[in-house]
Amino acid sequence: MFVKELPEEVRFKISAGEVIESPADCVKELIENSLDAKAKRIEIEVIKGGKHYISVKDDGVGIHPEDLPKVILPFHTSKIERFEDLLSLNTYGFRGEALHAIAQVSRMVISSRFYQEDRGYEMRLEEGKVVHIREKGMAVGTRVEVFDLFYNLPVRRNLLKKEDTERAKILRLVRDYAMARPEVSFKLIAEGRELLNLPSTQSARDRLEEIYKTKFEEREIERDGLHLRVFVSLSQKKGEVKLFVNSRPVQNKSLTEYIKRTVGRRIAVCLLEVPPFVVDANIHPKKLEVKLQKEGNIKELFRELFKGHKTHIPSLNQEGHPY
Ligand code: ADP
Ligand code: MG
Repeated sequence: MFVKELPEEVRFKISAGEVIESPADCVKELIENSLDAKAKRIEIEVIKGGKHYISVKDDGVGIHPEDLPKVILPFHTSKIERFEDLLSLNTYGFRGEALHAIAQVSRMVISSRFYQEDRGYEMRLEEGKVVHIREKGMAVGTRVEVFDLFYNLPVRRNLLKKEDTERAKILRLVRDYAMARPEVSFKLIAEGRELLNLPSTQSARDRLEEIYKTKFEEREIERDGLHLRVFVSLSQKKGEVKLFVNSRPVQNKSLTEYIKRTVGRRIAVCLLEVPPFVVDANIHPKKLEVKLQKEGNIKELFRELFKGHKTHIPSLNQEGHPY
């Protein structure tokens, strides 16, 4: 008789906190949605490290007017229909949770014009409830604006880090996605200042050189359905290792340690393409550490790429010339 079912709003608020913990989590979900919508340009704007305002604007396919009120319902997605679809997944999202979660803990405005429509619509939400939907003149694409994240969850809001820390997290995140998707142009504006402006390019190496302001060499190998491209900076830097699996920034401790032993104090960016069933697709959105079925094979590919280079590519001298 003491056990009661929690009201829906309480359940929603609790579960929202599992998906979204910080402004950067919010930006991540919105960028992934833009990429899934085939955007070629993504513009991110934040104020007060994202605590006061986050906007992610894209030129993707947009949201059909009839779908607009559905996108903020829990477990509503256009990306999969059956559980089996996860085995051939080629989108970032599929859980249909993010917009619902963000809407529960913020004031949100979603503006979108579907590519087959001649006008757009703006939907305004308070705590997950639609306040209004009205017509809006705009270009094809979608803009999601998030005001005052966690304003209705004061405890969670107080747990947010300082503005500078949150802003730095967002900058790292946008850079990661920019590295994963060089063909997409990214712009990041924080407190009215432009922090990143990366034009679209077909070359992953160009994108890296633009981001790190240093030259990279590139090695590539393909075997047994695994395709590995490794970019190593020619200059010595604080040894940073970046790992991407199927254009998703991920972390994997043992692989990272392994790569560090080979490249030493250089930046290494590894782009790995594997068939979707090799990575655990049913991964939690917050879980960056991935389990890879073929970790051994991947290390072997890496070893082959850097054969004869015991530690930090000794064939490269300080200036970055290979002789
Ligand atoms: P998921 O990405 O897992 O499907 P989300 O809650 O992130 O779940 O988004 C719900 C749905 O809203 C998506 O499946 C998609 O149909 C639509 N959507 C969200 N963001 C965009 C966008 N930027 N452009 C087009 N459609 C979008
Ligand atoms: Mg999503």
